[in-house]
Amino acid sequence: MTKDWKTRTQLVHGGSRRSQYGEMAEAIFLTQGFVYDSAEQAEARFIETGADEFIYARYGNPTTRMFEERIAAVEGTEDAFATASGMAAIHGVLTSIVRAGDHLVAARALFGSCIYILEEVLGRFGVEVTFVDGTDLDQWRAAVRPGTKAVFFESVSNPTLEVADIGAIAEIAHAVGALVIVDNVFATPVFSTAVRQGADVVIYSATKHIDGQGRALGGVVCASQAFIRKVLEPFMKHTGGSMSPFNAWLMLNGMATLDLRCRAMADTAEKIARALEGHPQLGRVIHPALESHPQHEMAKAQMERPGTMIALDLAGGKEAAFRFLDALRIVKISNNLGDARSIATHPATTTHQRLSDAQKAHLGITPGLVRLSVGLEDADDLIADLKQALAVI
Ligand SMILES: *Cc1c(COP(=O)(O)O)cnc(C)c1O
Repeated sequence: MTKDWKTRTQLVHGGSRRSQYGEMAEAIFLTQGFVYDSAEQAEARFIETGADEFIYARYGNPTTRMFEERIAAVEGTEDAFATASGMAAIHGVLTSIVRAGDHLVAARALFGSCIYILEEVLGRFGVEVTFVDGTDLDQWRAAVRPGTKAVFFESVSNPTLEVADIGAIAEIAHAVGALVIVDNVFATPVFSTAVRQGADVVIYSATKHIDGQGRALGGVVCASQAFIRKVLEPFMKHTGGSMSPFNAWLMLNGMATLDLRCRAMADTAEKIARALEGHPQLGRVIHPALESHPQHEMAKAQMERPGTMIALDLAGGKEAAFRFLDALRIVKISNNLGDARSIATHPATTTHQRLSDAQKAHLGITPGLVRLSVGLEDADDLIADLKQALAVI
């Protein structure tokens, strides 16, 4: 049974479907429409679309379907829906489940665009959102109430790498009948145990590790067949946030090496974190593998590996952070993550610039904080690059 395959096998073969030509590599079905043999067949397909039948690429496409089936097999959910970007996935999930007057609870430490959807967009339509500190279970307990529609959080937060206790939050949410929605980008599909911990809906920005080469935008929602086909798909297919077949093909290519890449990047991230911890220019080195990380023990139990991201807090503040960034030779200044190329970001002035000083301080986004997405370069080269840049300060 293909369902019994382990992750590495799924990443190479999961969801594959071949045309009458028996092509080895996944085909790109660069078509928006499909031809019917007869008017009767078209009518029947619009009444009920079979598992291997398609109507229009906004509804589904064979290449996109391969990607959806492959990621669902890896994540361990019944089904998945691929979207144009990570934000299209998050917007689709949140908007498809709420109506005016509904209540959501979300962790405060979220990707900026997620805060925009929760506060600005959903707020405009009368959805009430309570924000909590994601690592404080008492706050989750106090915030949920009977009728709370869903809870939403990042399993590992951006950029300060706080690890949320998925199992404990799921227990609190499920007790009031709320859906558990996890933005799982930093955990990666390879190290994720979100479904086993109790997550109902797991979302990835495929732009990150799944593509892994910084080429295309994409997103995906992994959940039960009932959620994907009855709740999310009707919303997505009518509102237009579906993934393009070409991008699905890039993602399928990325997945073949996803496990190897994530493991190599996680190994290097841990080496870098250990090599830099205690450096006189650094107030703090944040990585869940370090014993100094506040959720170190829980992270070890919850994630197979602590991930490919590091945060460095430069003791000299913004000036030191900028001198450090400008002195880097191998590591690039940019804002993507999960790329084969190592990337350094200064969240306070870029990705999280929109937040007030008080909000930044509350989330630990200090003026000296630098987020590092560890790539596939040689670990010793990266350590040497980071150390020479620290020496320039
Ligand atoms: C990048 C990212 C997103 C958004 O994904 P896009 O593909 O850029 O739309 C959402 N959440 C997290 C944690 C991310 O890192």
